[in-house]
Amino acid sequence: MDKVPFLTYEQAQEIAKTYPTPFHIYDEAGLRRNARAVREAFAWNPGFREYFAVKANPNPHILAIMQEEGFGVDCASFTELLISETLGIVGEMIMFSANQTSAADYRYAHQLGAIINLDDITHIDFLEDIIGTLPETISCRYNPGGVLSLGNSIMNSPAEAKFGMTQAQMYEAFTILQEKGVKNFGIHAFIASNTITNDYYPYLARELFQLAVSLQEKTGAKVTSVNLSGGVGVAYHPDEQANDIAAIGAGVRRAFEEILVPAGMGDVAIYAEMGRFMTAPYGGLVTKAIHEKNTYKQYIGVDACAVDMPRPAIYKAYHHITVLGKEKTSPSMRYDIVGSLCESNDRFAIDRDLPPIERGDLLFIHDTGAHGYVLGNNYNGKLKSAELMLRENGDVELIRRAETPRDYLATFDCFPIFAQFDFDQRDDDR
Ligand SMILES: *Cc1c(COP(=O)(O)O)cnc(C)c1O
Repeated sequence: MDKVPFLTYEQAQEIAKTYPTPFHIYDEAGLRRNARAVREAFAWNPGFREYFAVKANPNPHILAIMQEEGFGVDCASFTELLISETLGIVGEMIMFSANQTSAADYRYAHQLGAIINLDDITHIDFLEDIIGTLPETISCRYNPGGVLSLGNSIMNSPAEAKFGMTQAQMYEAFTILQEKGVKNFGIHAFIASNTITNDYYPYLARELFQLAVSLQEKTGAKVTSVNLSGGVGVAYHPDEQANDIAAIGAGVRRAFEEILVPAGMGDVAIYAEMGRFMTAPYGGLVTKAIHEKNTYKQYIGVDACAVDMPRPAIYKAYHHITVLGKEKTSPSMRYDIVGSLCESNDRFAIDRDLPPIERGDLLFIHDTGAHGYVLGNNYNGKLKSAELMLRENGDVELIRRAETPRDYLATFDCFPIFAQFDFDQRDDDR
């Protein structure tokens, strides 16, 4: 099934008159539709809460939508906490799931009243030294070790991951934390990324529910939440079958009713920290073809580069591309779609069958709403693009301006020469 952009050719052309390409654009209607589907899928669990993983897309306008849809945020750094506080997202609406956490980060998370999710048993003492008395509610991150396989495919090797505590450490941590006055316990695990199967969450839920029952029986600690974290994926490739969040919610419910309810733990709240699933499909990168080059291969050079959306360069990730206005033209050409970095991995597509592309054509690169803009850098002195929001009523709003050289050079303020330079003149020339 082909992927259809949420933006038409005419809309993109019109937008590009005001906001020059390249730009990321997000689809408010899609974001909200999906958020509501998530809420409905878990409505059977009164305590359910999605904590949107800020790292997927920290734009405050995106976070505000998540907030309006009733979700909290999952933060892992001081700056992510700062953005949340600015929006008024505080207290138990913040899950602080960090690792190798600094004292300053822990202090701030605690000040905001966030639920702290400890990545390691040694962090009990580390945290206590920083904040004094531990909070009444604390969560611990579990790593089951071994290899995770679902169906016929190996999804991941948790034993190779730096995150979380062993099972023995979980029992020990719960015992120690109780002695230190902690009353409500959470269990968290994140063991696979971008899963495209409705079975991942139900599988993980089953593991964590069993652990929760055993932890409560053996240590007496009251488990009040189970956090399935992230890992629910999206269909980047048109041949992939998108996850069905309703089926995922129903699968978790079956495990809940089989394991927790009979153990008298039917009041446990289910938490999620989805990032990618919440935003990836509702963002696109619009870029213009500016060069055509024929050597040993046929290249289309575009005005975006890996700085704007590095997933293909970093992970060899597939991102679908639609040539706007040529949706019905047969894909008779085979191109590499490349950016301008002096890096041969700066390719948005390799050997991709697409309609003939002319200079000036607008390309829509799909699924850039998560780990897109935010993964970017300033390599080669390239400046990051703008971010726009396509509102539900069709209006387009600038939600982050494009960078200018002044932004790039801002941290060189220790060089007096830069303080005197007339950047504005140069910006006007760009
Ligand atoms: C990255 C991350 C998430 C979100 O993962 P997705 O796969 O984007 O859903 C959630 N929790 C933690 C702790 C993470 O590091």
